[in-house]
Amino acid sequence: MSLQDIKTRLAKACADAGRDPSEVALIAVSKVQPLERVEAVLAEGHRLFGENRVQEAAGKWPEFQKKYPDAKVHLIGPLQTNKARQAMELFGAIHTVDRPKLAHTLARLADELGHCPDLFVQVNTGEEPQKAGVTPAEADALVAECRALGLPLVGLMCIPPVEETPALHFALLQKIAARNGLKGLSMGMSDDFDQAVAFGATHVRVGSAIFGARVPG
Ligand SMILES: *Cc1c(COP(=O)(O)O)cnc(C)c1O
Repeated sequence: MSLQDIKTRLAKACADAGRDPSEVALIAVSKVQPLERVEAVLAEGHRLFGENRVQEAAGKWPEFQKKYPDAKVHLIGPLQTNKARQAMELFGAIHTVDRPKLAHTLARLADELGHCPDLFVQVNTGEEPQKAGVTPAEADALVAECRALGLPLVGLMCIPPVEETPALHFALLQKIAARNGLKGLSMGMSDDFDQAVAFGATHVRVGSAIFGARVPG
């Protein structure tokens, strides 16, 4: 696959769902990819990327942004509070707000820095013990807490369990977002972003289908 193939697939998914393609942002997930693959996608004109580690993103994006100043990066992996300041400086959005303590830290830093990236609350829709995110039952409370803190909360994010039908999880996330009056839905990856679009995804996170299999180490 390639960036063009994925854009075509995304346009078709939008058409099938009766949605305007401008409502769905394609996040090219560049974690662990060789720099030349990332550079090639930048050279093709793509400007929105996703990374799951603060340290890794800090090691490559400030350099890329010298050449491509309009390139934006979103954090899609877990965030430790001691990396929150660095994350707020690097990322245009943070998709992984998953606990009150992190929300409080982000709010304090937002006051200090005078800006805050767009935020998504991560919901562990499959209630998997090894996965980050609040449970569906805890989601409304964390949304309310973010709002009480004045944070720019734009939506919800989920990573469905690998062995389950993703559509059930996309539908659940859509329901939780709707009852909280949130429009943003960060869901769908290489294998299932078409389905996510049908359930209202506004941000699909596609890695291997654009860049090829991730090369370890
Ligand atoms: C790696 C990753 C993706 C992209 O996965 P692919 O299957 O390569 O498309 C999407 N979302 C998150 C949170 C990820 O960590």
